Amino acid sequence: RLRVLSGIQPTAGSFHLGNYLGAVRQWVALQETHDAFYMVVDLHAITIPQDPAELRASTRLAAAQLLSAGVDPARCTLFVQSHVPEHSQLAWVMNCLTRFGEASRMTQFKDKSAKQGAEGTSVGLFTYPVLQAADILLYHANQVPVGEDQRQHVELTRDVGQRFNSQFGDTLTLPEAYILKETAKIYDLQDPAAKMSKSAASDKGVVWLMDEAKVSAKKFRSAVTDTGTEVRYDPVAKPGVSNLLTIYSALTGLSVGEIEEKFAGQLYGPLKTEVAEIFADWVAPFRTRVLEFLDDPAQLDAILAEGAAKAREVASGTMATVYDRMGFLAPA
Ligand code: ATP
Ligand code: MG
Repeated sequence: RLRVLSGIQPTAGSFHLGNYLGAVRQWVALQETHDAFYMVVDLHAITIPQDPAELRASTRLAAAQLLSAGVDPARCTLFVQSHVPEHSQLAWVMNCLTRFGEASRMTQFKDKSAKQGAEGTSVGLFTYPVLQAADILLYHANQVPVGEDQRQHVELTRDVGQRFNSQFGDTLTLPEAYILKETAKIYDLQDPAAKMSKSAASDKGVVWLMDEAKVSAKKFRSAVTDTGTEVRYDPVAKPGVSNLLTIYSALTGLSVGEIEEKFAGQLYGPLKTEVAEIFADWVAPFRTRVLEFLDDPAQLDAILAEGAAKAREVASGTMATVYDRMGFLAPA
């Protein structure tokens, strides 16, 4: 079995629809065919300021959402990143192998730091992709299921992993990004040029999975489209409409062509209303399950503790080999 590894940040209230369609849904499918490691990446979350009580709550919420979406601890290893200290240890090693120039070329950093300015940006945000490389290399993951926005980070992981191997001998497995074309990128409903993002300046176009049904319905109904009238998939000329078609298709299993046909001769209004309804039907039972998991935090914590123990078995082995190959003196 090939090994997959992926992570999701515990920030802000809940996951958004892009996280689910671009990532979590693939996680659920891959645990059937792969040796899967999935984690809530709280160390990544602190690259921007977090309130301690909120971070703890959103870490449990993230785990509850993964379990509710179908991530099954009997079929995969589900854990919280900070419960496995080797992530921080390998990240430091990788920081020392990553060139400043290559980290500077990461577009996600450029986008996020541009919003905050140099004085408002942490060094942690700059080295975020290096921590991510450590996350992946620690488990010898072969594939990394992510959205399109993460492709560059997986490339960086390969580059630094390869650098380690050529300097210290073949040690680390070089991973590939596993990206599903159809749902690789869900766009902001208000700004279809930008990806739907947890850290968007405004969340008017972000569909949060835990929002009240009527809040999300309103977001779909007021989605930005264009001045045309034809429901047609054309990401360049009609990014807003195309985004709605992608979501519709992902949630129903209908092809985009079938949906276009269904809405032939209709304006955008009915499409928006119907996507809103389809989403509402899908999300209602999901939300119920999440709330049930959150009702029993002790059980949730126990699931995560078991996952961390399984993860550490792999991570500690990799870390010992890495230290040894680099020439660190082993403690007597
Ligand atoms: P941020 O914008 O703060 O980085 P995020 O919305 O990207 O937050 P993450 O926790 O960084 O959320 O990403 C979790 C997973 O969701 C990653 O695999 C990422 O590729 C995927 N993902 C995030 N946004 C989208 C999107 N708009 N469409 C498809 N996949 C997405
Ligand atoms: Mg992200």
